[in-house]
Amino acid sequence: MATSISCGECYCRRGWPNLCMALAPMGFSYAGGMAEYVTIPARALRNGHVVKVPPGIPAVSAALAEPTSCAVNAVENCGVGPGDVVVVIGGGPLGILNACVARQYGAARVILSGRNTTRLKQAEAFGIDVLVNPQQTDLHAVVLAETDGIGADAVIVAAPAADPREQAIGLVRKRGVICLFASLPAGKSVLALDSRPIHYGELKIVGASDSSPRQVEAAVALLGSGRCSDSGHFPAEKLVTHQFGLPGIYAAFDLMQRGEALRVVLRPAGEGVIA
Ligand SMILES: [Zn+2]
Repeated sequence: MATSISCGECYCRRGWPNLCMALAPMGFSYAGGMAEYVTIPARALRNGHVVKVPPGIPAVSAALAEPTSCAVNAVENCGVGPGDVVVVIGGGPLGILNACVARQYGAARVILSGRNTTRLKQAEAFGIDVLVNPQQTDLHAVVLAETDGIGADAVIVAAPAADPREQAIGLVRKRGVICLFASLPAGKSVLALDSRPIHYGELKIVGASDSSPRQVEAAVALLGSGRCSDSGHFPAEKLVTHQFGLPGIYAAFDLMQRGEALRVVLRPAGEGVIA
């Protein structure tokens, strides 16, 4: 389901339910998520938040619908289209998802930049064209080399740090788009941006927050039949590096906190470690 439930009024009437002023997320405003059963609030049904998963999509893949839909929102906000070169900064699971979704929306080349060598190693399995560790390689030089010196069409910042946002200005072509996907903590969100390239290059800086039910439907469709690389299908099963039954919930959180897992799926009906 689209788990951040909109009110159906306010911005919702403009078709922007992810920007609802009374957004009520499951797991925060309503109990549920990591349990065998969950009560779906009436307003979730009323406002189209329940998305049917077609047969043939494993539950483990469907469990990625929410993060994938957020990447769909980012890629759509960037206007990514056929032939584009897209840079994704951040090698975590959401960075990888953004890279895969960008490819699905037609990007010809995707460059993923990440500082965590373990994560970058994990990213190798996803058919991303260029992987860069900016601590070892000059990301700016790589982007220029990949774009005939022009710059990328879009940069999606999926790393929770200020520097990549500031550097992204120098990675896009004129009229390029920079998407601030990951959020920064309150009090640490002020950036020092060079405004000249924005002005003279007519750059666009956009945000991406949450996703709409339509984008969750798009994500489910991607998880079912989409492709990340030209040859492979959307690599949902590679993103789910661990699965646990509910008794494994603490081990699951531990893995996430240590940064060893990409995505951990809890299977409430299962017992203990499944795989
Ligand atoms: Zn609303």
